[in-house]
Amino acid sequence: MTTDSQPTRAASARPGPRFLVIGAGMSGILSAIKLKEAGFDDFAIYEKADRLGGTWRENTYPGISCDVPSHFYSYSFAPNPEWSHRFSPGAEIQAYFEDVARRYGVSSRIQFGKEVTRCAFEDGRWQIETDDGATDAGDFVIAATGVLHHPAYPDIQGLDSFEGSVFHSARWNRALPLAGKRVGVIGTGSSAIQIVSALVDEVAELSLFQRTAQWVLPVENPAYSEEEKAEFRRRPEAMAEIREEASRAFTEGFANVLVDAESPLLQAIQDLCAANLENNVTDPELREKLRPDYRATCKRLIMSEDFYQAIQRPNARLVTEGIERVEKSGVRTRDGRLHELDVLVLATGFGVERFVRPMQVTGRGGMALDEVWKDGPFAYMAISVPDFPNFFMLNGPNGPVGNFSLIDVAELQFAYILQLVDQVRSGACREVCASWEAMRRFDAERREAAKSTIWASGCKSWYLDDSGLPTAWPWTFDRFREEMSQPRLGDFDTR
Ligand code: NAP
Repeated sequence: MTTDSQPTRAASARPGPRFLVIGAGMSGILSAIKLKEAGFDDFAIYEKADRLGGTWRENTYPGISCDVPSHFYSYSFAPNPEWSHRFSPGAEIQAYFEDVARRYGVSSRIQFGKEVTRCAFEDGRWQIETDDGATDAGDFVIAATGVLHHPAYPDIQGLDSFEGSVFHSARWNRALPLAGKRVGVIGTGSSAIQIVSALVDEVAELSLFQRTAQWVLPVENPAYSEEEKAEFRRRPEAMAEIREEASRAFTEGFANVLVDAESPLLQAIQDLCAANLENNVTDPELREKLRPDYRATCKRLIMSEDFYQAIQRPNARLVTEGIERVEKSGVRTRDGRLHELDVLVLATGFGVERFVRPMQVTGRGGMALDEVWKDGPFAYMAISVPDFPNFFMLNGPNGPVGNFSLIDVAELQFAYILQLVDQVRSGACREVCASWEAMRRFDAERREAAKSTIWASGCKSWYLDDSGLPTAWPWTFDRFREEMSQPRLGDFDTR
């Protein structure tokens, strides 16, 4: 689906199918805007929270920003000349989504405080139920429910006995003043690294509990000057150029190469990270503690301009002894030492295998998605599950995640979904979903390709399933773009 074809589609619009969009985060808002643009005005957006924004609503920890450049982490159709920095803070990103949703007439269509609990394909339509007992029905479901969404709480003995404040990084207690406090952070993922850099100068003591060291790619985060912003307002092409450049750099220098563990470009990334460690950490003992024993980009790469400076502050401590248990006054490590704390932050990541769940989804013949996914979630092209007709996921299982602008991913996916919807709209069929044969072929090829990605090169991460196989899109981003440009209709079960 090209944008060029959309005016024609809108012009020929007639009362059409009803869409149920679940989730009002980045991809739910996108869905509503694109549905309207395509002439589909009969849709409802269900959002369990009282505000849109998804991940940007939920993550409000100090230092939060997006490590994808802001002019790239924007909808292609809604450039924003006001971005303050190359990598703008989370609050600005949240405000951007709220502004776009308002400007495109989507905010007023969102039903807030309604969590979809049940979603069943019955008599050729999708019936949904929300947690307040309300029901609705539609012809298509767009599941825009997010990926890094359900906080993962660590199974550490005694966590409940801690007498200070304890919370997950995605459930930040903003009412709690941290100045002068002794703060512990568990985890060294992208969230923890941003938190440490932002907090260290505010708190009395900062202890970072590291189970696994991380490679850190140095990045600079300059602010845009007022002159630059004025230029962006005057000449939107300037933003398009930055976007294009960032997209090219992410595609060619990153997303495309991660899927080939032997790529020399990965070695170049590793060299940059290693030089960052050598040049910016002075104490040899600390340097060795911070040195990972696996290859850069095996885990999701950390990008930071100041983490190494932060962890070398006099009030910062890197704790590499394993955690024995949490006690009422702090964290006891395996060497017997008690690290006394006032606040404990669990930057321990997310349960990434849930996707649309805990929503109860049933497809043809009452088939439960939980049952279909009992060995792990999967979706043909990350979008469709066989026997779940007219049910499409954005940023679903097996998609490119973590290494690209998820906005771009969702835009490509939605254009693909619209082409499937067109099959129904044109009268070619009433139901469309991937066929089992295509699903099995896709899954077998995906599994084979996953083995040679960098994510399978010997580290643990949220990219891996229970068997240790990477679940993300294992091919190049170019291939993803190509696949998304046009569905292989022969791979779909149409009735
Ligand atoms: P994460 O990458 O999954 O990191 C979780 C951390 O917690 C890991 O260091 C893990 O250690 C540690 N951990 C978990 N359980 C533990 C336990 N029981 N004891 C000790 N340590 C434990 O989570 P995240 O930092 O929230 O990031 C998740 C993803 O969100 C990122 O990879 C990224 O895709 C996205 N994100 C993006 C941005 C951005 O700027 N775009 C910012 C934040 C997050 P191990 O490594 O040893 O498992």
